[in-house]
Amino acid sequence: MRTILRNYAQSSFADVRGRTTLIAKARWLLLFFITIYSAGAALLYSISSQGLQASSLQILVIASSFSAIFCYNTLYYFFYESIHQRKCVDHLQLFLDLLFVTILVYTSGSASSWLWALYLLVTLEASILLQNRLEVWAFGIFGGLLYGGLLLFGYLDYLPHVKMPFVDPNLHHETLYLLLNWLWVCLLNTTVAIAGAALMTVIRRERLAVEKSERAKVAFMDSANDLIFHCNPEGKFLYVNPAWQQALGYKLSDLDGMTMLDFIEGDSKQRCILEFRKALRGETIATMEGKLLASNGTFVNVEGSFSCTFKEDKPESLWGICRDVTARKEAQEQLHHIAHHDMLTDLPNRLTFSDRLTQAKALAKRQKSLLAVLFLDLDRFKTINDTLGHDIGDMMLQETANRLQSCVREIDTVSRFGGDEFAILLVNPSSLEAIERIALKILKQLGQPMTLDRNELFITTSIGISIYPSDAERGDVLLKKADIAMYQAKANGRNNCRFYRPEMDQHARRRLDLENSLRKALDNQEFYLVYQPKVDLQSGQITALEALIRWQHPTLGVIPPSDFISLAEESGLIVPLGEWALRQACRQSLQWRQQGVPQVRIAVNVSGFQLERKDFVTQVKGIMEEIGVAGSALELEITETVIMQNPEFAVKILNQLRDMGIHISIDDFGTGYSSLAHLKRFSVNTLKIDKSFVDEVDINSTDAAIATAIIAMARSLNLSVIAEGVETEGQREFLKKEQCNEMQGFLFSKPLPAEEVVKLLQKQSD
Ligand code: C2E
Ligand code: CA
Ligand code: CA
Repeated sequence: MRTILRNYAQSSFADVRGRTTLIAKARWLLLFFITIYSAGAALLYSISSQGLQASSLQILVIASSFSAIFCYNTLYYFFYESIHQRKCVDHLQLFLDLLFVTILVYTSGSASSWLWALYLLVTLEASILLQNRLEVWAFGIFGGLLYGGLLLFGYLDYLPHVKMPFVDPNLHHETLYLLLNWLWVCLLNTTVAIAGAALMTVIRRERLAVEKSERAKVAFMDSANDLIFHCNPEGKFLYVNPAWQQALGYKLSDLDGMTMLDFIEGDSKQRCILEFRKALRGETIATMEGKLLASNGTFVNVEGSFSCTFKEDKPESLWGICRDVTARKEAQEQLHHIAHHDMLTDLPNRLTFSDRLTQAKALAKRQKSLLAVLFLDLDRFKTINDTLGHDIGDMMLQETANRLQSCVREIDTVSRFGGDEFAILLVNPSSLEAIERIALKILKQLGQPMTLDRNELFITTSIGISIYPSDAERGDVLLKKADIAMYQAKANGRNNCRFYRPEMDQHARRRLDLENSLRKALDNQEFYLVYQPKVDLQSGQITALEALIRWQHPTLGVIPPSDFISLAEESGLIVPLGEWALRQACRQSLQWRQQGVPQVRIAVNVSGFQLERKDFVTQVKGIMEEIGVAGSALELEITETVIMQNPEFAVKILNQLRDMGIHISIDDFGTGYSSLAHLKRFSVNTLKIDKSFVDEVDINSTDAAIATAIIAMARSLNLSVIAEGVETEGQREFLKKEQCNEMQGFLFSKPLPAEEVVKLLQKQSD
């Protein structure tokens, strides 16, 4: 790998190796031809009239020269790699060539030898092997001098003459012949030296140009941001660029013997192998996406393609180029996540919920199992958001999301639909009871106090449940039915869950009708108040009148508040409606005072939505001043859950109301989460025991214990207690015995129209 990479940067070694091999091959060829030629000549001579005149010494010298040439050529050809680093190996080779050429020329008759042409070949060899032009000429001159020396030594008889057929021995002493012969060889040798050197210069220049462009190509690949690799048809790496190494965190040394496929992650591997084969067949490859395995075990997402180069119709190598698209992939995934999740809570959104519902339905159908859709809506969330700010509201939603997730299994889906609406998909629940258990667990979990930004807050939830396949087959219908059931849960006093029932559709339709007519009802003056007395248990005297709203619907008749108060709360209409009730109650109080009717307090119910509005206290004050009633003539009933939802806030409001002389009762007491510690801080006058504890107070020991405890607690806090919904003598006896202060209920009186209540009051004072 490293050698190959070095060749990418500089290919001159391969070049030198190539030239040496070329020379060595030429030498093999020459030896071969000379041997054939000599043998042929020897044969022809021996059968000619001249006969073979070669001496045995001559033959021996020729044979040993041949062997010597054979030996060092073998060395050069096969072991060049190990010897080429030594200095002047090429020069030595040329020198040996010249030496043996001279010996061969001598043994083949010196001046009469035809082998002088070999000097030209050696000069040509020099021009191929040596880069330096002067050195080529030096070898050329040296060859000429060797040949000249040989002729001269023969002329001076320093060397014995080798006899050759057809040759007159006197030839070796013919000065002119020898001179012309020598000059002729020198001339040709010079020509070959000059031409060879020039030719090689041109060749070298061209090669350098090619090398330069090659190097530029490598530099380009080295600096490219894209991941580039080159491998052989087996997939073994020949080159990878720095971007590739950087993206995957590998060093070149790590890649020895590895193939491209070793880095492709399982999933994309098979696809890649197919494309790889296609490329080797010469087909074009489309852009592919895949994952590469990085050294740290993570995956790098890439997109790219490869192509194959061919040599003589056979695949030679593969080039691949790809781009790290991890960032883009991540952005895509993030976008996908955003599109499928709620930003605030990171829960799946409605879209994802629908998808999962569709999948779960298919599975449930096959397995003949159940599916449950739970639709949740936080009670009075809007008020929290409006009074405490959106930051707290957001925190509350996040906390709710966490709690919801802790209540269900991994396979179930908790989703936020927006606002304070959540939906839960329960997959394969074992029974309806199991579903109910989970719903109750959710109610309990969410009912626990939340400490958000140093406020201790309570929130409750209403849950509607629909079941697949009994309630509906279609996903959207299932959701709608769960929604209908949820509204029913809300109408049932919140903080509870309801399974969908077909009757609820009617309710839902009625609700819709009511909601539409509710808007006009206030303008059309369709509301009126009825009054229910509160009486002292000991004296039996009326202490106050609770104003309860009624709606005289033009077609539906009289509608009780349980049917429309929650509707009014959801639509925000409760604020003007509550204001109307307060104003109407104050007016009635004034009117009675003016008519001389005995004075009692009038109690008005206040919804949490009203209380939590910033201008509530100002509004109450404004109405009292406008109509002219004192605070002492007024009582406000506020339900426990509303106060406890945000105790800090409630303390402030209640103090202000108390300062105005208004009597304050905590309505539906016992249904919320009041602790003694909280109660101490509230400026309230009366606790109103919820009807649910009163109903069986005289026969159910638990209810009796609760009622007794509330009465004891109130006494210890110096608060008065009233029991609502008293219908029987038994209940009254019990409460009287436990020293409950007041009672209210059908036993004494139903809520009555103003004219009738007046009669009661007047009868009492008579
Ligand atoms: P609440 O404040 O707990 O009122 C007591 C409810 O119990 C009244 O129902 C009353 O008619 C009923 N009740 C009283 N004594 C008995 C009894 O002995 N037996 C039985 N079974 N029921 C009894 P109503 O008038 O239908 O009011 C229902 C709820 O509507 C009230 O509960 C109150 O929370 C709300 N509401 C009524 N008027 C107003 C209003 O002007 N503003 C607001 N915000 N809420 C109101
Ligand atoms: Ca009340
Ligand atoms: Ca009540």
